[in-house]
Amino acid sequence: MLPVVPNPVLILGGGLMGLAIAHALARQGEAVLVLSRRRSEAAGFVAAGMLAPHAEGLSGPLLALGQASLALIPSWVERIEADSGLPCGLCSSGIVVPFASVAERDAYPTALFGEELGRASLEREVPGIGPRWPVGLLFRQDGQLDNRRCLMRALEAACVNRGVAFEEGSDVVDLLTSASGSHGLEGVRVRRADGGLHTLPCSRAVLACGAWTAQLLPELPVFPVKGQMLSLQGPRHALERVLFGPGTYLVPRGDGLVVVGATSEREAGFQEGLTPEGQLQLEQGLTSLLPQAQSWPPMERWWGFRPCTPDEGPLVGECAIPGLWVATGHHRNGVLLAAITATLIAGALTQRQLDLDGSNWLKAFHPDRFANRMSV
Ligand SMILES: Cc1cc2nc3c(=O)[nH]c(=O)nc-3n(C[C@H](O)[C@H](O)[C@H](O)COP(=O)(O)OP(=O)(O)OC[C@H]3O[C@@H](n4cnc5c(N)ncnc54)[C@H](O)[C@@H]3O)c2cc1C
Repeated sequence: MLPVVPNPVLILGGGLMGLAIAHALARQGEAVLVLSRRRSEAAGFVAAGMLAPHAEGLSGPLLALGQASLALIPSWVERIEADSGLPCGLCSSGIVVPFASVAERDAYPTALFGEELGRASLEREVPGIGPRWPVGLLFRQDGQLDNRRCLMRALEAACVNRGVAFEEGSDVVDLLTSASGSHGLEGVRVRRADGGLHTLPCSRAVLACGAWTAQLLPELPVFPVKGQMLSLQGPRHALERVLFGPGTYLVPRGDGLVVVGATSEREAGFQEGLTPEGQLQLEQGLTSLLPQAQSWPPMERWWGFRPCTPDEGPLVGECAIPGLWVATGHHRNGVLLAAITATLIAGALTQRQLDLDGSNWLKAFHPDRFANRMSV
């Protein structure tokens, strides 16, 4: 029996953004229906969960957006945990970025926000760090969420407890717009799990299909960037800080699990699966960053697709089809940016007063910004 929800906001895609936005809308009293094709393919289950606007070396408006989202995360997590009764795995572990030289460290775009570490203090922060790293930066303000084991499940439970309806196994295959002058959104066509095609009328929807967004709306320049990951079981407390090296990072969870990521493969498209080259890259990075971790027992290996855009910034706002909102393209920073994205979309869609920064961000990350550039 499918859920009957009166005039709901449809969320197209039940990944990280879809769930975060559904939860925020439900908290504002909106009826919400999430159309979810395959939860397990969501990058929300793949990510390392770093909250790392500084360690990632972001700059410009993306850094400001990341910093603003970082500030929202504790209260966002509190709301999810209160509504779900489940932990999200938020940890203010800080992130250490090691460098091969002082010059490299000083040139890092976010160097001003970090604490400088020499070799002795690097060894204190990361016992056993490899010998090739003489200096580093410590970003105490950056941290992590345990997205794979905690956040995604907590978000889903919070949505259910707030009355969000779900259609699992529903593939959105088409967006239906009015044939009249307004070209507004009139509905979506879905292929349900039983193979049948159905039309769901709606006047408001949020497109949150992650790396697959352009399959529904080819005007949006979103493409997949594949990432491969692995995890190891280390001794508890062997690594306390996230260690973010070039090309490889290590993210320690509280129980000793260490998530090792990630390849960044633009040319792979949607090619599924692990590759020997990708796994070798991670193992070499691991050896260089923390040699002792080579002997820690392996746990899992997995992969997924980041939704990327030409400027690597997200697409957030109402697109050229009135009634169709877009929340995608978060690339490497979707876990970090979920809190602010949900706040911006839910606020704007329900026409709540956004503060000045909110309006500016909706301009800076407008989904049509590439189309506008081309037509200038
Ligand atoms: C290897 C890797 C490491 C990462 N590490 C980090 C990190 O440390 N920190 C960080 O902040 N971010 C990280 N990210 C990025 C983050 O995971 C993504 O930016 C974020 O998950 C994007 O969320 P999303 O909801 O847009 O997409 P997803 O989470 O991928 O969800 C999209 C969902 O839409 C569904 N869907 C697609 N098409 C349709 C359709 N037609 N109909 C119905 N449903 C559909 C899919 O099934 C999927 O479930 C990482 C990503 C990867 C891949």
